[in-house]
Amino acid sequence: MYNRASASDYDDWEVEYNNPQWGSKDILPFLQRVETYQVKPEAPTHGYSGPLKVSLGGHFDLSSEQFSEIGPKIEKDRPYAEDINTMHADSLNVFARVPKWIDETTGKRQDVATNFIYDQQGNKNLEVLDGCRVKRVIFENNRALGVEFYNDREIRPNADPNVQTVRASRLVVISAGSLGSPAILERSGIGTAEHLKNVGIPLVVDLPGVGENYQDHLSANTPYFIDESVETYDALASGDPVVTQEQLRKWNQNGTGLLGSNGFDVAIKLRPHEDELHELGPEFESRWKDFFANKPDKPIVWMTGLSRPPMTDLSKALGLPSTKFLTGAYFVTYPACRGSVHVVSDDVYAPLDFDTGFMLEVSDVAILRWAYKHNREIMRRLPVYRGPVAQYHPQFPEGSNAATTTEASPVDISAPKIVYTADDDAAIDDFHRRNVATTWHSLGTCAMKPRESGGVVDSKLNVYGVEGLKVADVSIPPSNVNANTYSTAIAIGEKAALIIGQELGISGLEI
Ligand SMILES: Cc1cc2nc3c(=O)[nH]c(=O)nc-3n(C[C@H](O)[C@H](O)[C@H](O)COP(=O)(O)OP(=O)(O)OC[C@H]3O[C@@H](n4cnc5c(N)ncnc54)[C@H](O)[C@@H]3O)c2cc1C
Repeated sequence: MYNRASASDYDDWEVEYNNPQWGSKDILPFLQRVETYQVKPEAPTHGYSGPLKVSLGGHFDLSSEQFSEIGPKIEKDRPYAEDINTMHADSLNVFARVPKWIDETTGKRQDVATNFIYDQQGNKNLEVLDGCRVKRVIFENNRALGVEFYNDREIRPNADPNVQTVRASRLVVISAGSLGSPAILERSGIGTAEHLKNVGIPLVVDLPGVGENYQDHLSANTPYFIDESVETYDALASGDPVVTQEQLRKWNQNGTGLLGSNGFDVAIKLRPHEDELHELGPEFESRWKDFFANKPDKPIVWMTGLSRPPMTDLSKALGLPSTKFLTGAYFVTYPACRGSVHVVSDDVYAPLDFDTGFMLEVSDVAILRWAYKHNREIMRRLPVYRGPVAQYHPQFPEGSNAATTTEASPVDISAPKIVYTADDDAAIDDFHRRNVATTWHSLGTCAMKPRESGGVVDSKLNVYGVEGLKVADVSIPPSNVNANTYSTAIAIGEKAALIIGQELGISGLEI
């Protein structure tokens, strides 16, 4: 999925966390230069000559089409629009098609390995060692000299099991993601002094921010039955050989069909209107005032109807023959909760001590509750709708007006909206507490902010307290972005390349 943050997300990094040249005006050129936006020519905030193609994919689901038609009819002041990714307030409260990192001419996923590394085979300056696990950075007088690593025993069981070393003459850059980078730093002796002492790792720098400030987007999935004649991803998801072959044939021919897309076809970034704020309850009041009210380009939730089940074996779990589903999916765009990730020893294979922090903040719970209600009202009006999969929805009290077991066909557009009681709300919250999920948007664990505020790297990505060591990945954002994180990760990579190139004196690297 191609999804972009709001301009104020990057401006927060610059202004609130004191990182010069990391504002939206600085990041936008990097976002533009990596993409070729095939969706529409001459859209001012998009790019047209980058290696990664962005398109609407080779398939448009019927249920999504209906979602985009019905949504604006029942959501007040939320029309259909062309672009949900302008990065400005006009991207909010509009239903729009969801672009994908997919080349429309081939139907192929636009990954960075293919577009930035596999074409470098003749490059003598690049050596890639895959299937390895970095244990730690090695230092002399607090200057990074290289890294110790192992051949991964799970990937290379027959390779040399002893520790290997690679030395760096100028700089070490850690880029192991939001879970991997803080772990490498801690194994290297950079982290909270007390924690490192407890787990037996000699201290190099006392840096309490390492592994803290963990953020993701809390999400939930609520499945509905759908008209059996509609083409969905269900058969592909369950590995049906006939459907798979047929879709492969289409995809190989011209990049179209289900395999040229992903089922996320229409979405909306919802921000409550003033007259809707009461719907979010008192738990949301201070969060709104403190965080959202003055930033009109920030939505509170992202929402869609996904043309497949939330899990591959849902039919089996329900004891049904192969059935078709549509999934209401939504994520909290700026959760108030924070988690953490830390090592429990210096063993490179040891699982991490990982706390997502999910559902610890009542404002996040209120947003999920609001999203469930809005999503369900759209779903139950789609012509393809055949009722909720009750087992995977909140368990409402007996006799509730919100019961999920009684509705097996769409209601009229003008049907009254479901009125939820306090007990119904409690059932929704309980459902979310039991079923909240990651959106795989982990970030923030090596935050780029002042050291005294819990920062790990400065605005040139240097790790505080040592020399010759940077972090460059999606662990460095000090605060969240309202979008799926791939575009932000790539922009960080591009910006890091420029910073590093300039420091190393490489010419011709201007943006
Ligand atoms: C299942 C899934 C689906 C997603 N879908 C989308 C989407 O549709 N759209 C979107 O915008 N974003 C999506 N994301 C998020 C996006 O992929 C990530 O935000 C992005 O890849 C983060 O980039 P990164 O470079 O920070 O980390 P990563 O891409 O995680 O790269 C870190 C790398 O470091 C390696 N590593 C970790 N520890 C070590 C170690 N000790 N030694 C050696 N190597 C190590 C890891 O194996 C990994 O290859 C998705 C993520 C997941 C997991």
